[in-house]
Amino acid sequence: MGTKAELLNGKQYAAAIKEEVAQRVERLKSETGIKPCLVVVRVGADPASEVYVNSKVRTAQDLGITSEHRHMPAETSEDELLAVVLELNEREDVDGILVQLPLPKGINESRILEALDPQKDVDGFHPVNAGRLSQGEPALVPCTPAGIIDMLKRAEVQLSGADAVVVGRSNIVGKPMALLLIRESATVTVCHSRTKDLAGVCSRADLLIAAVGVPGLITADFIKPGAVVIDVGMNQLEDPEEAKGFFPDDQLAKRLRTIEKRGSTLVGDVNAKAAMEKASLFTPVPGGVGLLTVAMLMKNTVEAAIKRRATRGAANSGG
Ligand code: NDP
Repeated sequence: MGTKAELLNGKQYAAAIKEEVAQRVERLKSETGIKPCLVVVRVGADPASEVYVNSKVRTAQDLGITSEHRHMPAETSEDELLAVVLELNEREDVDGILVQLPLPKGINESRILEALDPQKDVDGFHPVNAGRLSQGEPALVPCTPAGIIDMLKRAEVQLSGADAVVVGRSNIVGKPMALLLIRESATVTVCHSRTKDLAGVCSRADLLIAAVGVPGLITADFIKPGAVVIDVGMNQLEDPEEAKGFFPDDQLAKRLRTIEKRGSTLVGDVNAKAAMEKASLFTPVPGGVGLLTVAMLMKNTVEAAIKRRATRGAANSGG
């Protein structure tokens, strides 16, 4: 079978979101003098977290958003981290606070995330924002699922009435993804590790979203011909033999070179060869969803700045 699917280019969609954010930042500054400010807190020396945080801080700066990186040592206690969060909550100039996950063992993530001021919770993980999202109220929405919806709309994918299947039920991706799709009037099924006949359920989906963390879990028999397939997974594939069944012919040589050079190559939860043969639209890994996440974080920061400062303005004027 030949290659049929069209690739959804995350770089292009992320660039469109960032361009709009940069324009809003510029307007906000010229009309009100406000410069949005994002603080990213990182604890410990996890190398993947370092890459993500650097990218967030750099992107913010590129778009005219003030950004601060608070790097705390691995031995930081829960109370010390809590104190930093509370200090940032109080700081008038700070619009967005992001605590990079995962946190070192011994720190209770929920306690930290619940301490964030919901109005500054640009990751959208606070129970207030999760609750507002589930009730269909305006909220700060987790960046990865929000970015996927934004991209699907820009690509003019029909969501209303579509049969959507989300594989994964995490608070970060799967659950908010399902809620956003319900908001768009899709008919949503959420699958997880206990789902019976996963392939059968997935193969009925017009829109299939995989957020699992298992390389290549989604194979050809999971994909309805012509489906839109969104691959959120970020996994490392090390075995050259496995790679041969994973990538379409035109990508294979490059991937094998990467494995040879670095020991592994970044892959998603979807077998790329199968998706290219059966889907109509597919997000590549890398180059798909990952890029949208950072762009949406910037959008959330500007929205948090506008909303919080407007509320404060109303409160100050007695409104
Ligand atoms: P979690 O580990 O929190 O959740 C994984 C989900 O997948 C769980 O609901 C789990 O089910 C389900 N699952 C695991 N194995 C299977 C299986 N064999 N069949 C069906 N369902 C299964 O992961 P996250 O949601 O945080 O992340 C998912 C993936 O997305 C990861 O690869 C992560 O790296 C990536 N990611 C990418 C982002 C990006 O920007 N591109 C951002 C965030 C995540 P159960 O609940 O029953 O255990």
